Amino acid sequence: MNDNNINKGLRKQLVSLLKNKGIIDIDVLNALDNVPRQWFMESGLTSHAYEDKAFPIGEGQTISQPYTVAYQSQLLKVKSGDKVLEIGTGSGYQTCVLIELGCKVFTIERQRLLFKRAELLFKKLKWKPKKIIFGDGTKGLKNNSPYDAIIVTAGTPELPTDLLSQLKIGGRLVIPIGKNEQIMTRYIRVSKNEFNKETFGSFRFVPLLKDKV
Ligand code: SAH
Repeated sequence: MNDNNINKGLRKQLVSLLKNKGIIDIDVLNALDNVPRQWFMESGLTSHAYEDKAFPIGEGQTISQPYTVAYQSQLLKVKSGDKVLEIGTGSGYQTCVLIELGCKVFTIERQRLLFKRAELLFKKLKWKPKKIIFGDGTKGLKNNSPYDAIIVTAGTPELPTDLLSQLKIGGRLVIPIGKNEQIMTRYIRVSKNEFNKETFGSFRFVPLLKDKV
C-alpha cells in the first residue's frame, strides 16, 4: 500500500498536536508519525484520519482517538523486543503502532467481522502481529504468557484478574476502568503476588464484552 505526501504532512500536524496535549515519549510520537491511520478507517471517512477523534469502524465499534492510542502506548513503557498482548484489535491501528515500536504483538478480537477485516489488512501491511485471535480476551492468552505488557482497548467496570497473572515481573497492564467513563489505570507487577496500581486521566471507550460474536 502506498502512502502519499499530503497525508505525511497531516500526520506531522497530528503528532505536533499530540505533543502539545502532553505526549512526551519520542518513540511513541515517531510511531504515530510512521503508521498511516487512513489505512485503518472506512473508505468514506479517510479524509478525517488525522483528526484527533474516534471514528466508527462497523459493528458499533470505533478506532480509538490518536491521543488515546498515544497515551496508552506511552503508559505501556514498551521497548523493542517486548512481548505484548492486546485485547480489542478493532481496526488494527493500535496493534500496528505497537509493532512499529518493535513489539511482538498477540492481539484478540471478539467481533468476527472486525477480526476478519483486521486479519486481511495485516496481510497487506508491513506490520505483522505474532498472532491475531478470534475470541474473548478477558481471560487473556495463557499459552503465550507471560507478557511484558498487556493493553486493553475497551472499557470495563471490573478488572479481569486473569490478565494480572499473565504479566512478567516488571510487566505493565494498561486498562481503562469504569462504567460510563473510564479511568486509565496501570498495574505493574512488582513481584509474584504484588501489583502497584496507578490511575491517570478519564476517557470514554466502547465496552469490553464477554464471549465472541
Ligand atoms: N485499538 C482499537 C480499538 C477498537 S475498539 C482501534 O483503535 O481500532 C475496542 C475493540 O475491543 C472492539 O473492536 C471490540 O469488539 C473489542 N472487544 C470488546 N470486548 C472484547 C473482548 N472481551 N475480547 C476481545 N475484544 C474485545
